Amino acid sequence: MDLNGRRVLVVGLARTGVATVKFLKVRGSIVSTTEMKPKGEMGEAVRELNGMDISMEWGGHRTETFLKADLIVVSPGVELGIEPIQKALKKGIQVISEIELAYRFIDVPIIAVTGTNGKTTTTLLIGEMLKEEGKRVGVGGNVGEPLILFADSKDQWDIVVAEISSFQLEAIEEFRPRCSVLLNITEDHLDRYPRYEDYIEAKVRIFANQNSEDVAVLNRDDPMVMGYVEKVKAKRIFFSLRERLDEGAFFRDQAIWLRLGEGEEDYPLAGVPLKGVHNVENMMAALTASRLFGCSKRAAQAVLGRFQGLEHRLEFVAEIEGIRFYNDSKGTNVGSVVKSLQSFSDPIILIAGGKDKKGDLSPLSELIRSRVKRLILIGEARERMGRELGGLTDSVLAESLEEAVILAYRSAERGDVVLLSPACSSFDMFRDYKERGKVFKEVVCRLNSDRRLQIPD
Ligand code: ADP
Repeated sequence: MDLNGRRVLVVGLARTGVATVKFLKVRGSIVSTTEMKPKGEMGEAVRELNGMDISMEWGGHRTETFLKADLIVVSPGVELGIEPIQKALKKGIQVISEIELAYRFIDVPIIAVTGTNGKTTTTLLIGEMLKEEGKRVGVGGNVGEPLILFADSKDQWDIVVAEISSFQLEAIEEFRPRCSVLLNITEDHLDRYPRYEDYIEAKVRIFANQNSEDVAVLNRDDPMVMGYVEKVKAKRIFFSLRERLDEGAFFRDQAIWLRLGEGEEDYPLAGVPLKGVHNVENMMAALTASRLFGCSKRAAQAVLGRFQGLEHRLEFVAEIEGIRFYNDSKGTNVGSVVKSLQSFSDPIILIAGGKDKKGDLSPLSELIRSRVKRLILIGEARERMGRELGGLTDSVLAESLEEAVILAYRSAERGDVVLLSPACSSFDMFRDYKERGKVFKEVVCRLNSDRRLQIPD
């Protein structure tokens, strides 16, 4: 792709946008930028790009800016549906996502991970396994570094592991990972995609340019993934929690079994810190991909033995009087909450709600009936969730997360689990899921210390 002298517009100036601008300048492009947020809120980008010869637009997108470009590079998080992009597309202007631009220049194999849930965990697991083997691994995309930073870097990296969202896949042309991983497809982002089918279409674009020399690692248990599988041209390798497979990864007798080529390997899970049924799936996917790309059994097992899981993903917070508190603030859609509920055999007091993503809540019904002894609902979505799920168990509305935690604590008994797993995004009450998780943890810790204060030594 020749960028020299081309007028390139970069849409969105967070970290990825800034890295893209710098890359394009080195290639001799005539760069302009456009950002929705006002300049005053974009201190880091302003500092980073200070003194560069580029024209910058802040606080909104003007259609003329888009129509003047020869090429438009869209940062992750920017919607393709916005009017100026649609107008540019109509005019025949090339619009690509940053991963497409990066792909054209990355000269080492790419393992790309997508799915509704588990992307970050699986991407980091694969990265760690390959690093443990001594490989020089670039971890990027939605987590880690912007992918564009791995361009032209054969002497610096051996392999790139990328977390890819459906938004970025909407604007690819040639992006072809040597290995794609599709973890699952459940409803999400209906606030952004008018139809669920559009979301699925975007996700499966990860396979679009793969051929029989490439590999696709796929969830055998996921009906949505399996519904698409015939169209995957890459060699398909499956993982399954339920079925014993002739090839691929499966779960049996508290171990993951991996069959690739001739041999069979087992990875016992006793003592592995990563908990939850969904993490068994993530580990199966990660083992398959990393073993196919040069990681040894020893290195993979070593990483499973120490990988602690990530903050805000089914994170253990504290045990108070035999009640265990878990923070799953990143559980922002129904599919992830299903898995979190399946991960406990003890009675659960579930705190859910937040900004409504308008998804179908019915996949939660059976689990709420059978495992949730009390449902505490917060945020904008609480009325609807109360109407649709409240009758299945004892349920109550709370005004704030703090109140919800206190209500949960008061009604819990020794042996119960208090779980924050909202099935909603956080923007009605918090900056993001991280802030929501932090508040939850703070309230739990306060409960813990208040209790200690009340008990004399
Ligand atoms: P992503 O990057 O896709 O958002 P994360 O690894 O950050 O995925 O996990 C997000 C949430 O989804 C967490 O709350 C976690 O409990 C849940 N989760 C993780 N892996 C899976 C999976 N394989 N299937 C379903 N839910 C999952």
